[in-house]
Amino acid sequence: MAKNIVILQNQPLTQSDLYTLRSYGISEYFDNQPRNRFQAQNSFQIDSKKTVSGFTPKLQEQKIPTVTQHNTVSQKIQSVTPSPNTASNPMVLLLEEFKKDIQKCTSISELQKALCVHNKLPLCLTATQPVLGYGDLNSPIVFIGEAPGEEEDLEGKPFVGKAGKLLTAVLDSINIDREKIFITNTVPWRPPGNRVPTSSEVNFFKPFIHRLLQIIKPKVIVTLGGTATSGLCTVKSGIVSMRGKIILCNLETLEINAEYLDINEQQTLSKVSEYTQQGNPIIIPTYHPSYLIRSPGQKKQAWSDMITLKKVIDTLQFF
Ligand code: URA
Repeated sequence: MAKNIVILQNQPLTQSDLYTLRSYGISEYFDNQPRNRFQAQNSFQIDSKKTVSGFTPKLQEQKIPTVTQHNTVSQKIQSVTPSPNTASNPMVLLLEEFKKDIQKCTSISELQKALCVHNKLPLCLTATQPVLGYGDLNSPIVFIGEAPGEEEDLEGKPFVGKAGKLLTAVLDSINIDREKIFITNTVPWRPPGNRVPTSSEVNFFKPFIHRLLQIIKPKVIVTLGGTATSGLCTVKSGIVSMRGKIILCNLETLEINAEYLDINEQQTLSKVSEYTQQGNPIIIPTYHPSYLIRSPGQKKQAWSDMITLKKVIDTLQFF
C-alpha cells in the first residue's frame, strides 16, 4: 500500500493530532529529531486493529515537532479520536462548516475566500496556497484535473508544469486556446509529494467543485483521469471504461447520477445538443496528461476523446 508521508518541523504535536493525521491518510511522518528507524518499534495504536508505522508509543505521551507554517495542528484541527459518521469526527465537523460556507458563495472570489478560510485539513498545512482555477469564467468548457502539483502550488495556477504543457499541446491540436476555457482541479490543495488525493479529500472538496460548476455553468466538462471523473459523478467503473463515453449530468443535484452516451451512435450529438440546451452540462472523461506522459501508448485514445470534444464544440457552435 502507498504510504502518505508528511514532513513536520519545530512545533509540538499531541496524540489526538496523530489520530487526526492518520484519519486523513497520513501514515508516516518525518521530523527534525534524529530517530533510529531500524530499532524495533511498537507502532502507534489508532485502535485495536489499525496501526501507523513511524509513530512510537513514546510519542503518545510526549509532544513532538510539527509544521512551522501554522501554530499547532491541534489549534487548527480540534481533533478527537476519529469515529466515522458521528458529529464528533473532526472531518465531519469541518465538512459541515465548509459545505455551509461554500453553498453561500455566489462568485468565484467568494469561493476563493472560502477555500482560504477553510484551511484546516492536514493537506493545507503542507501546501502553499489553494489553487482554485484559471481561465475564462464565461467559457462553455471546463477542464478538471486531479490536484495541483509542485509548480501549480507555487504559482497558484492549475496545469502550469509538465502535465500542463502537454495539456496545452493537446488543446492546440484541436484549435482550443487554453485562455478560452476554464481549468480547475478536483482537490484545490497540493497533496504532499504529489500523491493521489485520498477519497476523503476528494469527498471533502466535492461541494467546492459542484459550486464552482454551478457558478460557471459550463455546457461541457472534460474530466482528466479517474480521480476527476469519479470525484464529480457517481460512476461505477474506472477511467479506462468511462473514457470514450459521454456522461449526462444534472448539476443542481449534488449527487450526480450518470447516464452514458456512445459517441459512435448516430443520435448522440443531437441528444447532446438537446440536453445542453436545457441548461445541463455533459461530461467527457479522458486520460490525465500525467498518465499520458507515463504511458504514451494511450495517446491515441486520448486523441479520439479530443475528436469527440471537437465534434461537440462544432455541433454546439461554441467558438
Ligand atoms: N495535475 C493536475 O491534476 N492538476 C494540476 O493542476 C497539475 C497537474
